[in-house]
Amino acid sequence: MKRHFLLLILTGLSTACFTQDLAYARDVVDRLASKEFKGRGYVGNGDGLAANYIAKEFEKIGLKPFKKSYIQKFTTSVNTHPGAALLTVDSTRLKPGVDFLADPGSPSVFGQFPTLQVKISYILNLPVLRGLFRSAHEKFMVVDPFDRNDYTKEELAKIDDFINFLRFHPNNVAAGSILLSYDKLTWSASTSQYLRPTFTVKVDSTTVPPKYVNVHLDNVFVDKYKSQNVIGYIEGQNADSLVVFVAHYDHLGMMGSETIFPGANDNASGIAMLLNLAKHYSVNKPKYSTAFIAFGGEELGLLGAKYFVEKPLFDLEKIKFLINFDISGTGDEGIQVVNGSVYQEQFDRLSAINKKYSLLSQVKIRGAACNSDHCMFDSKNVPNFFIYTLGGIQAYHDIYDRAETLPLTEFEDYFTLMVEFVDGL
Ligand SMILES: [Zn+2]
Repeated sequence: MKRHFLLLILTGLSTACFTQDLAYARDVVDRLASKEFKGRGYVGNGDGLAANYIAKEFEKIGLKPFKKSYIQKFTTSVNTHPGAALLTVDSTRLKPGVDFLADPGSPSVFGQFPTLQVKISYILNLPVLRGLFRSAHEKFMVVDPFDRNDYTKEELAKIDDFINFLRFHPNNVAAGSILLSYDKLTWSASTSQYLRPTFTVKVDSTTVPPKYVNVHLDNVFVDKYKSQNVIGYIEGQNADSLVVFVAHYDHLGMMGSETIFPGANDNASGIAMLLNLAKHYSVNKPKYSTAFIAFGGEELGLLGAKYFVEKPLFDLEKIKFLINFDISGTGDEGIQVVNGSVYQEQFDRLSAINKKYSLLSQVKIRGAACNSDHCMFDSKNVPNFFIYTLGGIQAYHDIYDRAETLPLTEFEDYFTLMVEFVDGL
């Protein structure tokens, strides 16, 4: 707070009263990334609990619902792992999230299985591969690790096809597969259940190849999972046009009953920005009516946003500008603006504001990219930016994306930039 009063005096920032509140942002991130919300996914109603928390915050701040409630419901299918997620290679019990991940689409599997090593050279030689499958019955295939840089496009296509075959193909007679990997573990979420269980294992956590594996994975496929968006607004001086802020609140949830993917940067931080802006505009009446949307189902394929643009609560053509916050927790190297070159005039204005008030170290331009919820609004020709922070901690879709290590480095300056930008629309 103090810093901004000083800024106002020094730089003459146009906005009368900044209700920027870093302590509140920190509290929101801590809360949403805590165990209470179970990674805001599909085990233990994590996403529903998070949606209710956000709806309560909307109410406290004084946002109005478009209908009776802030909640807009939608359904999706989802594959979940609420029970066991155990993997032992030879005699080493691997740590979930640290040493291995179960593929989000994996079905249940239980038992001890001998292994069959799959060298990458086998995959590139069809007769050898066919021979291998003759002895794969009731075994776990263990695919050697590989560096994508070492292979041609055609070879990579063959390797990827093979991995898909392991997951999806009814002719795969193996009991399951292990993909050994040199890379950091990166999880995701799945709306479908695959045919065969697959695990990704960090190569340094096992001998290559292990002789046998012990697995216990419990999956529950939910056909009609009830998820939701949380939507509220503040009436502006001009109610004919809307400014819209969006951020997804969902994350990947849990892999088994013990392992949480907290999603502090992705995207508790974006919700913190959304709520802080809501607080600000509840005190400083905005020029245009301003809507705040916390989307669910983003990690399952932008599902909440997709539902919203098909069943909007206001006329999408009235949207003057929309900003999507997805990953707002660092900023050491500034921000990246997706659709910057699509809406060049607005980008230039944003960049000029940043320079004028010396806020972020860089405002980087990028073209269109279908990598978060704004993409659904692209398809409806709604002018928008998707902004994410650059630099700092790189944890992403893993167990290390935690509140404790998320610095919110440039949160205040980022907030100031957003308010100045929107007030100039
Ligand atoms: Zn995200």
